[in-house]
Amino acid sequence: MVLLERDALASGSTSKSAGGIRAQFADELNIRIALRSLEEFEAMADEIAFRRDGYLFLVDREEDVAEFRRALGLQQSLGVPSRELTPDEARELVPQLDLDGVLAATFCPWDGYATPEAVVQWYARESGATVMQGCAATAIEAHAGKIVAVETQRGRIATETVVCCAGVWSKELGALAGVELPVEGEARSMWFTPEDGGLPERLPLTIDFGTGFYFHREGPGIAFGGRERALERVAEAAARRLPVLADLPVQSTWWGWYDVSPDWNALVGEADEPSRFLYATGFSGHGFQQAPAVGEHLAELVAGRKPSLDLSAFSAARFAAGASRPEAFVV
Ligand SMILES: Cc1cc2nc3c(=O)[nH]c(=O)nc-3n(C[C@H](O)[C@H](O)[C@H](O)COP(=O)(O)OP(=O)(O)OC[C@H]3O[C@@H](n4cnc5c(N)ncnc54)[C@H](O)[C@@H]3O)c2cc1C
Repeated sequence: MVLLERDALASGSTSKSAGGIRAQFADELNIRIALRSLEEFEAMADEIAFRRDGYLFLVDREEDVAEFRRALGLQQSLGVPSRELTPDEARELVPQLDLDGVLAATFCPWDGYATPEAVVQWYARESGATVMQGCAATAIEAHAGKIVAVETQRGRIATETVVCCAGVWSKELGALAGVELPVEGEARSMWFTPEDGGLPERLPLTIDFGTGFYFHREGPGIAFGGRERALERVAEAAARRLPVLADLPVQSTWWGWYDVSPDWNALVGEADEPSRFLYATGFSGHGFQQAPAVGEHLAELVAGRKPSLDLSAFSAARFAAGASRPEAFVV
């Protein structure tokens, strides 16, 4: 098994991720993926700085409240200990919040955040794969609907199976095999403060769902981001929901690509042609946390074993079949 990485391990979206891990989704499959992934994250928790501080969603739009309550019921029916909080309970978790206009809050103690690069290193070590960094896949050779080889910057590798997990670049990689993978990039930024403004040590990853503004602890300071690319726009939402943040200097920032699919749910499966072209991409902001369960699923497909989780609904063929499957809780 060979892993080709044209740059360095985790140099793509993964290293730009907020590292959030949650079971609070609206789509049953995403909850099931989270439950399986959480087991894996637990097993490596000490090595990946997994902070199980929970996720706190703040909901201030009437139209979102019913959806959050429906999703809570679904999560709980699958064994997730998520629950609705009163404003006072939410304030107990994060006393500095301004909850003006908040109609509902939900919390799950199993959720949290970890260091994405550490997870990549863990898998690189444990997988037993030959990792070739600084080595791009440049062509995929197929005959009569079957893959025969991959051309790389360091030569040709004969193989019948290719797994495309090239993030936002999967469209181009898929095109090398004539497979259409509808993934588009959406740039997202994060900012980092050197101090924490007195926020609690156990700080849930908190999301103001209406604006997309979110924050969590990062070393001695706070990491925050949102749906907007410009700091001024995110700062507006931040100043309203977490006024203390306005007093903290921004020390650093980065941006990266969300690998977005047309319905904001992952693309996972096997192409009709060429056969044995497998893919996992289009995670739309959830790719870090879904990697353990989706990676396991791909390994099962490669080995020809019955998948432990049926992810066939995430096939990229769903769009042509008119079966798109939107995930409601995207940030
Ligand atoms: C600001 C921000 C915050 C985010 N927060 C979260 C979060 O809290 N939780 C979460 O789960 N997700 C989050 N995400 C999304 C998450 O980062 C991505 O969904 C995930 O990292 C995708 O992982 P990947 O391995 O599919 O892609 P990538 O990490 O992008 O990896 C793809 C790799 O393929 C390589 N590559 C490309 N083309 C080739 C080629 N031809 N040959 C060889 N190698 C190639 C690239 O160099 C790259 O390293 C966030 C993203 C951003 C930008």
